[in-house]
Amino acid sequence: MTAVLSALTDLAATELATVTGPVLLPGDGGYAEEAAGFNAAYSPSPDVVVGATTAADVAAAVRFAGRTGRKVAVQATGHGLMSTLDGTVLVSTRRMGAVSVDPLNRSARAGAGARWREVIDAAAEHGLAPLNGSTSHVGVVGYTLGGGLGPMARRYGFAADHVRRLTIVTADGEIRAVDAERDADLFWAVRGGKGNFGIVTEIEFDLVPVTRFHGGAVFFPAESAADVLHAWREWAPGLPEDTTTSVALLRLPPDPALPEPLRGRFVVSLRFVHLGSAEEGAALLAPMRAVAPPLMDLVAEMPYPAVDAVHMDPTDPMPMWDRGAAVSALPAEAIDAILAVAGPDVAAPLAMVEIRLLGGALARAPRVPNAVTGRDAAFSVFTVGVLAGPPVEVVAASTAAVVDAVGPWACGALINLLGQAGPERVGRIFAPADRARLLEIARRYDPAGTFASNVVIG
Ligand SMILES: Cc1cc2nc3c(=O)[nH]c(=O)nc-3n(C[C@H](O)[C@H](O)[C@H](O)COP(=O)(O)OP(=O)(O)OC[C@H]3O[C@@H](n4cnc5c(N)ncnc54)[C@H](O)[C@@H]3O)c2cc1C
Repeated sequence: MTAVLSALTDLAATELATVTGPVLLPGDGGYAEEAAGFNAAYSPSPDVVVGATTAADVAAAVRFAGRTGRKVAVQATGHGLMSTLDGTVLVSTRRMGAVSVDPLNRSARAGAGARWREVIDAAAEHGLAPLNGSTSHVGVVGYTLGGGLGPMARRYGFAADHVRRLTIVTADGEIRAVDAERDADLFWAVRGGKGNFGIVTEIEFDLVPVTRFHGGAVFFPAESAADVLHAWREWAPGLPEDTTTSVALLRLPPDPALPEPLRGRFVVSLRFVHLGSAEEGAALLAPMRAVAPPLMDLVAEMPYPAVDAVHMDPTDPMPMWDRGAAVSALPAEAIDAILAVAGPDVAAPLAMVEIRLLGGALARAPRVPNAVTGRDAAFSVFTVGVLAGPPVEVVAASTAAVVDAVGPWACGALINLLGQAGPERVGRIFAPADRARLLEIARRYDPAGTFASNVVIG
């Protein structure tokens, strides 16, 4: 152990003595497992990992980082891991996963480490559902602070629009209860500005009265990719708000766990969620079903807890490099440009290119304003490159080519679906006035930039 590490060990032993969860240093058993995230492209190497179990543990970790001049990173699931977190104090929240539902108030509370699966199951017992995203494996807090775009988004808006209050540890180590009245600026900033202002230890948010939906995925073969994408871009904007849809070009691995017709193939997945009746849903979907013979048509009546079946996101960690943008329109030239860099005729290291329809409730200002971006956008375009073969430069260039292809129509991005970006690019997705306000609030609550460690607004 180096002298630096040894000095750190002594300091950590004193300052973090009150922490009830594990405090792990490089070389300790469990350190690598605790620091690892879903995005396996990075092997995080923080100076210290604090396995927090309470808000007081989080506050102790933040104070320790402040005294030793370190930045603080936070991780629940590692779905949003985008750096190696070198030199940070990493607060691992996975032990803070408590979830409770208040059916009378149609609300839920979730600890910093909760995943959507726990909330979906607890809410379903009362005929309710949360505004989770494409997969229930993602963490509630990280997703929600980044806006949160889910399968019911056009009906109910962003998850961040439905946050009632939260508890957050700020850079001074204070544990604050924050809502529309208390620390109102901070409440505005953290809903959309993500982890730049503190560590949220608990969040309370609305549940909606949804028990079922008519939806799922329809998979088309590679040769129909152009027809399906062109038809979708004309069809989707005419859908009612009760319908949320996206379309994705998928290069699937030869994984035996996948259904045989999809295994190892380039396919187009049309995702569809309709909250109205099955008959209405089938009628709305009919024009897309007529575009080409599908490989598999899995659209059906489903109980809400089966919602992961719509996107079928991977559940095992994978090494990813993401990029995304929002666009104000998707003319035929934009589809052609995407197909030219990522279509079935191109050898690209891209697992997915996804286009989600926005609009509906997403475009309306929430009751309590927040910093969420993308309200004016018509579609979100997001691509995932796989870092398992070609070097990172090649994968990065491939993902950048997709974003560049829609460049003429780009209008910012959703922070959760922005992918790899430095502080300047993150800052640019906000309207200039919102960006200035976010930076002022960050300076006020975190003058030393303690939380500037993963997705940083510059
Ligand atoms: C397979 C997959 C599917 C996805 N689907 C969607 C989707 O449908 N819609 C959508 O909007 N996004 C989606 N995302 C993006 C996802 O919402 C973000 O990556 C989100 O940040 C993940 O949160 P996490 O806690 O699971 O991840 P983590 O990697 O643990 O956290 C990521 C970041 O979230 C912030 N954060 C986490 N916990 C806290 C906390 N307690 N306090 C303050 N900040 C915190 C921090 O900035 C942290 O660096 C998806 C990502 C993946 C990999």
